[in-house]
Amino acid sequence: MSVKIQINCPDCHSPIFMESMLLLAGQSFKCSNPECRTAISLSLSESEKVAQAFNKFEHIRENAVNQARQVS
Ligand SMILES: [Zn+2]
Repeated sequence: MSVKIQINCPDCHSPIFMESMLLLAGQSFKCSNPECRTAISLSLSESEKVAQAFNKFEHIRENAVNQARQVS
């Protein structure tokens, strides 16, 4: 399950749209500002942290979905 993320460009503060799975796979994402062209990607140590955060997030989300199903 890929999660869409939006962060602000460190250079021009335009939004950069990312997908968690691609980000974790080491893909870089370009700034949406065509005149900026800043590309960002995660270093290995950062991607591990993000992966852990996403695993936690996915776990919480699944729990919420399961509980919602049980209620309805
Ligand atoms: Zn930028």
